Amino acid sequence: MPKRVETVVLHDSSTPVFGDVQKGGSVVLTSVETLISQARANSLWPVTFGLACCAIEMMATAGSRFDIARFGSEAFRATPRQADVMIIAGRLSKKMAPVLRQIYDQMPEPKWVISMGACASSGGVYNNYAIVQGADQVVPVDVYVPGCPPSPDALIYAILKLQEKIKRGRAKSFADLRLTELKPRTIEEVHA
Ligand code: SF4
Repeated sequence: MPKRVETVVLHDSSTPVFGDVQKGGSVVLTSVETLISQARANSLWPVTFGLACCAIEMMATAGSRFDIARFGSEAFRATPRQADVMIIAGRLSKKMAPVLRQIYDQMPEPKWVISMGACASSGGVYNNYAIVQGADQVVPVDVYVPGCPPSPDALIYAILKLQEKIKRGRAKSFADLRLTELKPRTIEEVHA
């Protein structure tokens, strides 16, 4: 079994010359899986989806003061088919839960979820019949952000943690890469 090259190696002028490549250039060695993980982690596109007051903080994150573009996540998409991360910003009502699940299902694989704020993560102050007591009852959550509301800095920290997670989880083979996969579900299946 050949050993996988995990590190990035930069060579200087001592780099061997192949063909007509000019001597003195830089060479980067890595695996395809690492390269794809790096690309995915540094270009997370959130689906535009706000539920309550936490969404105001999420919007502030995209503004010039905090500038989420520094981490490659400024491209909020108006369609789930172009997004790979869902930020659940605010309390999730039981009426909204099937809609959230449908939007999640319409996002192509691979996809990730950030639960932003106490309400999304646990129901928060809304311990009543109308609010889902944790968004992870509806979709799998990768990162939870505490607070009411969490500051934009906290959301940026969550994105950085998600990036770390994505970089750690390398695809095992080309078959596992699955660059696009859509599994549309009917609303009846979501309610079932
Ligand atoms: S955690 Fe606080 S700010 Fe966020 S939705 Fe709940 S009440 Fe609003």
